[in-house]
Amino acid sequence: QLDRFEQAKFILEKIEKDNHQAYFVGGCVRDLLLERPIGDIDIATSATPQEIQTIFDKVIPVGIKHGTVIVRHEHQSYEITTFRVEGKYSDHRHPDSVEFIKTIDQDLKRRDFTINALAMDKDGDIIDLFMGEEDLKKKMIRTVGDGYERFTEDPLRIMRALRFSSQLGFMIEHKTYSQMQILKQQIETIAVERLNAEFTKLFAGEFVERGIAYLKSTEIYNHLPIMVKYPYIIDYLPKKLKPLSSFGQVIALFHYIEPAIGIATWVKEWRCSNKIKFEAVQLTQALRNYKANRIDRWLVYCLNAEYYRGFVKLIHIFHDNTRVSIEDLELIDKALPIKSKKDLALDGNDLLSLFPKAKRGPWLQSHLYKLEQQVVLGNVKNSKTELKEWIRCHPPEIN
Ligand code: ATP
Ligand code: MG
Repeated sequence: QLDRFEQAKFILEKIEKDNHQAYFVGGCVRDLLLERPIGDIDIATSATPQEIQTIFDKVIPVGIKHGTVIVRHEHQSYEITTFRVEGKYSDHRHPDSVEFIKTIDQDLKRRDFTINALAMDKDGDIIDLFMGEEDLKKKMIRTVGDGYERFTEDPLRIMRALRFSSQLGFMIEHKTYSQMQILKQQIETIAVERLNAEFTKLFAGEFVERGIAYLKSTEIYNHLPIMVKYPYIIDYLPKKLKPLSSFGQVIALFHYIEPAIGIATWVKEWRCSNKIKFEAVQLTQALRNYKANRIDRWLVYCLNAEYYRGFVKLIHIFHDNTRVSIEDLELIDKALPIKSKKDLALDGNDLLSLFPKAKRGPWLQSHLYKLEQQVVLGNVKNSKTELKEWIRCHPPEIN
């Protein structure tokens, strides 16, 4: 932990040498004080992005307009943001305007919660203008300044409060909580992509039960995609969610609880990334296969190895008595006769040539799929001769 700050000190020193101020800020300072694993190390500075570009060789201009660049140093990336104040968030996504400023005070004041408004200089001295350290000790989430104002400015902060309570296991301070209650409807104005990012973190939190409890007690779920239509889902969350950590798994879980909510709907309404979508589809399919045939070769064949862990967790949730381990799946995978459709000893053209009078059509794919299944299950050997023989005995329905 400290090593990483030691390494990052170089950046602060280099900026200071050029006569600007620079501090570590936000989540990294909070997590250092909490002795939690730190994520990204973010830096705030009085230097403008242009000035940073002259100080360092490798600068990636990720958000010059908002004052943010990334600097690479010893294979680490550092987000460096110029001290700034923000205008209104009328599109509920980005502030309308940002103004660069020369001192850190106002920059800390624009931050969401007191525990996120801490800064630390290169010597490890903390700047704490809003009693953030005390709130860290009390395990409290409290807005910087008036909650009503801060949540109106950017209602995403309401979701962020839940997210931090889930990650840190903190309580939400009384006044902050009641302002969240009053303003929760504003969440509906937030771009779903922004919500989704916070929601994903909420689900992955170590203290997810707490986050979910707040989701429930505030009735914020009434203003979230899907949840508003299927509120009973919430009741499954504390019980079922604990061992899960990825949004893809959560989606698969919901899908499984209530088939009426198709994965496609989930993914669409939550604007999930393709990665999450893929994970959710794979896991749901595997759960379905499991329900039909338990663990068989086909299930393992269809499931990417990277989702084994998630699948095992889901199985333990739905089938308490089942003992399935990642190793079991790996063993089956090793013994599979083919790894993908490409390995099949016979392709579409081969199949077509067996039926010279037939035209190409959906029957081709569907029969190849059957072949693939038979080979994976070990019912037919993966050789041209044997596959042809199987086809002779099981001719396709060509129409
Ligand atoms: P994590 O470890 O999950 O990244 P974090 O505290 O770093 O947590 P980020 O979303 O990365 O959270 O934001 C970095 C910092 O920027 C926060 O600590 C906070 O000071 C500030 N911040 C981020 N989003 C907002 C917001 N919507 N309103 C006000 N301040 C914000
Ligand atoms: Mg961060």
